[in-house]
Amino acid sequence: MSAAAIHVPDRSLSARIARRSARYLARRPLRPQLQRGIVSFTFDDCPRSVLLNALPLLERENWRATIYACIGLCDTRNHLGVHMSEAQLVEAHQRGHEIADHSFSHLDAAAVGADAMRADIARNREAFARLDLPRARSFAYPYGEATTETKRALAGEFELLRGIHNPKSATLDLNLSASARLYEDTVDTVVAQIETAAKERRWLTLFTHDVRKLPSAFGCTTDSLERVIAACLQQGVDVLPVGPALDLAKTRIKERLA
Ligand SMILES: [Zn+2]
Repeated sequence: MSAAAIHVPDRSLSARIARRSARYLARRPLRPQLQRGIVSFTFDDCPRSVLLNALPLLERENWRATIYACIGLCDTRNHLGVHMSEAQLVEAHQRGHEIADHSFSHLDAAAVGADAMRADIARNREAFARLDLPRARSFAYPYGEATTETKRALAGEFELLRGIHNPKSATLDLNLSASARLYEDTVDTVVAQIETAAKERRWLTLFTHDVRKLPSAFGCTTDSLERVIAACLQQGVDVLPVGPALDLAKTRIKERLA
């Protein structure tokens, strides 16, 4: 994505059918056995407002988040505002947050194909290594765009590949896992989803972008984030970044007690 333009994924009927069928193919299902519900806060791209406004609120509760970062977006400005510098991304890591992969250039997998996607991911991985950031364990598809081909191609590269479709069940597909959008107009839904996660001991992943007073249509305000934090506290869920949550989700309760 260029710094200025907002990319619009293909909305044609054939693209929508392909997108839907990709959800049901090349799956790697996992049904977590949890003692308590888990909520993971994830932030896509790397808006500076996340570092300045969102992470301190989570840190106040001694919680950490996952940032799906495109190193190619560092220091650029777009509809999400200014993005973090490389040094600020490293600072977020040093403050205990997980930095995960979102491709170097924010590529649309459905538009560019699996080979170009892998090459761009390799570029992001090299940048992570240059910055002394740990190798990313998980990946979020830019625009949530995944094809069956990309799911297969990336399955061996990451422990989890995250999408942006709303969670419908307790079972997740590690090749295209669901994630609830935390946008200014979805807060009530998210609060209800947190209640369900607590009650049914599910792992709920949330995603958003910029967090500021006047957020883009893809972000939210700190007031909304505070409401979601309050819901997590009230429901007594564990709040963990994706990597540690995945470790818990993969461990059977019996093994945990042994
Ligand atoms: Zn993105």
